[in-house]
Amino acid sequence: MNIHEYQAIGLFRAAGIPVSSGDVAVTSDEAKKIAGRLGFPVVLKAQVLTGGRGKAGGIKVVKDERELVKQFTAIKNLTIKGYAVERIFVVKALDIRKEFYLAITVDAVKGDAVVIASSAGGVDIEETAKTEPEQIHKFYLERNAQLDMKRWSGFRKKIFKDEKMGKEVDPVLQAMVKLFFEKDCSLVEINPLVIDGQGKLIAADAKVNFDDNALFRHPDIQDLRDMKYEDTDELEAKENGLSFVKLDGKVGCIVNGAGLAMATLDVIKLLGGEPANFLDVGGSSNPEKVLNALKIILRNKKTKSILINIFGGITRCDDIANGLLEARKQLKFDIPLVVRLTGTNEKEAKEILARAGVSTFPTMREGVQQAVKLAK
Ligand code: GDP
Ligand code: MN
Repeated sequence: MNIHEYQAIGLFRAAGIPVSSGDVAVTSDEAKKIAGRLGFPVVLKAQVLTGGRGKAGGIKVVKDERELVKQFTAIKNLTIKGYAVERIFVVKALDIRKEFYLAITVDAVKGDAVVIASSAGGVDIEETAKTEPEQIHKFYLERNAQLDMKRWSGFRKKIFKDEKMGKEVDPVLQAMVKLFFEKDCSLVEINPLVIDGQGKLIAADAKVNFDDNALFRHPDIQDLRDMKYEDTDELEAKENGLSFVKLDGKVGCIVNGAGLAMATLDVIKLLGGEPANFLDVGGSSNPEKVLNALKIILRNKKTKSILINIFGGITRCDDIANGLLEARKQLKFDIPLVVRLTGTNEKEAKEILARAGVSTFPTMREGVQQAVKLAK
């Protein structure tokens, strides 16, 4: 889960990371009031859950009320990467002298948390990684979730050359590490981390992402969720105990088990098709789940065929078959179903389906082949 900059700044403030003061506004009158309190110049920052707002014209420094109103309206009318701007963060402008990049994220390959730091901040870090990889430095954190200050202070000299400045970075990073582990984050990023005219260190932007699978431990974080950015199908799936991810292709699929579901997507691609979704109905064989899964899949008008791929262990194939027929009766759709099931109560399932005129395929490959053919 991703949150807005102003929300992330709130977490930073609570964690003791220095940030610029400010507040979020929906109308230009609200923005005027906030600016009146802060004093000009202020920065207007579009709150959309995507990066590159600066480049898109979503960040503007304004020096008086007249400029504020003009730029507020301009930003309000922007659509940044498909998202309309609804809220604008109004913050006291910083006198920026130098911009750094500092973040903590997960290195999925190593399975460790890693600090990424660069003295080339402010700009797109992915771009820097391509053009000047030597500018990006990585520092792996210990498994005990603590920052080893001795090891870190040796490392940080590479980025923060000035020793006095470096000492100011230490508590910032310590607070970031604490936030990262306490709130089960997948990313805590400051870009840019700024040195201002007084030589003070300030986080001028904040990006925090959370591990969805750990959200149940953090009701306070769940409350920050902006529903406008959520895929309603994915949320509905989650509420019904299904793991669903929408994709771009035409072959819909319902599979039991995440591993088999991923293998199914691979085989669909291998045989020349494109999957319309990932869907794991999980281990139990509640017929209701098949019904709910089909409801969600059928909403995607791009879907031209639906593959049911079941490996019956705990899941009983006959339950799946009954669920399918019930769903077909209730939902009345004419998209062809391709069924491959094997394992527990396979024979009963095939009989149930045969009686209803639904044929089944003995192997995954044959089933996928048919689903891909029907989608073309
Ligand atoms: P992003 O483009 O979505 O990453 O948004 P940022 O919050 O990082 O802002 C983009 C850029 O705007 C920063 O790298 C700064 O150069 C500039 N910027 C942001 N805040 C201020 C500020 O308070 N004063 C000045 N002068 N520039 C700012
Ligand atoms: Mn930024």
